[in-house]
Amino acid sequence: MKTEIETIVGETPGISYELIVHRLEGTDVSAPRVYIQSGLHADERPGVAALHFLIPMLEQAEAEGRLRGSLILVPHANPIGAAQHLYGEHMGRFATGTRTNFNRDFPVPGDDGMRHLDKASAPVFAERRLKSRLLELADGCPIVLDLHCDDESVQYVYAPEVLWPEMSDLAACLDAEAALLWDSGADRAFEEAVFEQMQARAPDGDLSGHCVTTVELRGQNDVDVTLARKDAEGLYRFLQGRGVVAADTTPAPALKAGFVGKPIRHVDMVTAPAGGTLLFHVAPGDRVEAGQLLAEIITNPGCKGGSVEVRAPQAGYVLTRRIRRFIRMGDNLLKIISDTAAVASRKGALED
Ligand SMILES: [Zn+2]
Repeated sequence: MKTEIETIVGETPGISYELIVHRLEGTDVSAPRVYIQSGLHADERPGVAALHFLIPMLEQAEAEGRLRGSLILVPHANPIGAAQHLYGEHMGRFATGTRTNFNRDFPVPGDDGMRHLDKASAPVFAERRLKSRLLELADGCPIVLDLHCDDESVQYVYAPEVLWPEMSDLAACLDAEAALLWDSGADRAFEEAVFEQMQARAPDGDLSGHCVTTVELRGQNDVDVTLARKDAEGLYRFLQGRGVVAADTTPAPALKAGFVGKPIRHVDMVTAPAGGTLLFHVAPGDRVEAGQLLAEIITNPGCKGGSVEVRAPQAGYVLTRRIRRFIRMGDNLLKIISDTAAVASRKGALED
C-alpha cells in the first residue's frame, strides 16, 4: 500500500488541510477498481472505524498477491469538517464558513455533458476544491462506496434504482437491514455526482458491474470494535464477491430475513408538531401500524395536557430516529419506510 498526503490549501494564509490517500495495486487490470471514503460528514465515525480494520485486511491481500483490483481509500475524506469545533462541540456536517452541507453541491456534468472540476489552485473555497478532488479520486472506478451513518439507525444503503437488485450483494454482505432506492437526485450529493459521471461515461447505458452508494453504517454512536470489525468483514466479503479480492469460494450471502428495500418515495419523514423533550416509543428496526404511538413530546412537564403525541401516518418500518432529545417544532423525528408510497415523488436528499 502506498500512502500520499495531499495538501488542500486553506482560504487564508497559514491554513492548510491534509488529505490522506491510500492506494493498493491489484494484479489484474480487468478486475474492478474501487474507491472507498469515510468521514465526509466529519461527525460520522462508524465508517472510519470500519476502514481501520479493513485496510490491514486489504494490505495483507496485496502482500500475498490476492488483490486483483486496485483500490483508493480515503478514510478521512473531510479534514476541513474534522477541524470545525464551536465551544467544544464538533460540527462536521456543514461547512461553518459557507453553511453548505459537505455532502451536497458536488460538481456534476452540465447540459453539455461536461463536468467542471475546481483545480487544486483554483481561487475558490477549500471545500469546493476538496469536493472536486474526491470526485477525481473516484473517477473511473466502477465501485464507489461512501461510508456514512445516520442519527440513530439500523444499517441501510442508498442505491440508484437502476443498479438494484444487482447491488443487493453489498447489502447482503454487510448484513444490512434496508435499502432506499433513488431514481433522480437534486442536491448533488457525492453518490449522485459519481453516478452521473458513471452514466456520462457509459453512453450505451450499460452500467452492469457498477456500484455506487452511500452506506449508512447505523447511528452516530454505533462506533465500537465489534461493529467495526463486522462492517470491515462485510466490505471485504463484498470485494471478494465482486472479484476485487481473490477468494477460494465466491461467497454468496443472502439478504437478511425481513430486509426492506423500497424506493425513496416510500419514506415518511415524521416531523415534530411541537418543541420540547422527546420520549420515543419506537426504535429503529421496529414495525409500526398506522396510528401507533411513535413518540410524545413533553411541552409542559407534569401538567395535564403537557405533552403532545406523535402517531404513525401509516404502517411501515422504522428506519431511523433523531439522536437529540430536545427538539424544535418542525424537526425531523423519524424516517419510516412506509408500506405504500408516502409521497408521489421525491427528488434529492431526505434531509438538509
Ligand atoms: Zn452523512
